[in-house]
Amino acid sequence: MRGADWVIHLAAVVGAQLVVDKPIESIVVNVEGTGNVLEEAAKLKNIRVMVASTSETYGMSNKVPFEEDDNRIIGPTHIRRWGYAATKIVDEFLTMGYFQEKKLPVIIARIFNTVGPRQVGTYGMVIPRLVEQALSGKPLTVYGDGSQTRCFAFVKDAVNALSALTENEYAIGKVFNIGSTQEISILTLAKKIKHLTGSRSRIKLVPFAKVFEKGFNDMSRRVPSVKKLIKSIGFVPETPIDQILLEVIVERRRLNLNFNEATK
Ligand code: UDP
Repeated sequence: MRGADWVIHLAAVVGAQLVVDKPIESIVVNVEGTGNVLEEAAKLKNIRVMVASTSETYGMSNKVPFEEDDNRIIGPTHIRRWGYAATKIVDEFLTMGYFQEKKLPVIIARIFNTVGPRQVGTYGMVIPRLVEQALSGKPLTVYGDGSQTRCFAFVKDAVNALSALTENEYAIGKVFNIGSTQEISILTLAKKIKHLTGSRSRIKLVPFAKVFEKGFNDMSRRVPSVKKLIKSIGFVPETPIDQILLEVIVERRRLNLNFNEATK
């Protein structure tokens, strides 16, 4: 960190699924990792830290949209998935602690669903999974009845927003939602992917009970309030979902083509 003016701390456990599979390691990585970054930064002069948090910290609240200062509703501790939200909540408290107690200049970026080329489906993320399924002729796995909605932000927009926040003095010591407000149901998303890839795959509805641990219900809506973000940087992620999907599909096709060539 020495010599740097900003540390953008994005490193963390990828996806809530990993916390379910490996709770101990995930909790240690998320909490100790952020603690290490903050502790080292606080020893240096003229350094600032942006810490990435997540929309999962709002928990199962069904308020629309989520505002930064809203209360959160987190489920019981025997459900491992809530461990992910809990670690990120601790990260946020720790970050604010360093701001208040050690005067370390910080920003907390509470990132909502962010997607684009190079995202992998390994940890459950819906867009790379459905695109891969569509391109390989496998059924598109839509969980529940697909009526749950999400707002997908393009990774390039999200990165620009993070970068713009670091340029803004007003942002220091504050929390910002980073996300798109274009809401889409997962069933509509699956139909769009089918259409844009020209795939003949069918859409398969998979009951939540088969994919989530017992007692965990998927969040039905998750929409960020971007008022605070607009006020401080003047723009929000708004690349349309069709354009995002096309970029993901083009990249996936290219990767599959390269793979087929390499294995000929
Ligand atoms: N989802 C789905 N099929 C999949 C993977 C995910 O229907 O193969 C749903 C998931 O239940 C959620 C949404 O897609 O409602 C977004 O899931 P993702 O894991 O990408 O992000 P989350 O919003 O859960 O953090």
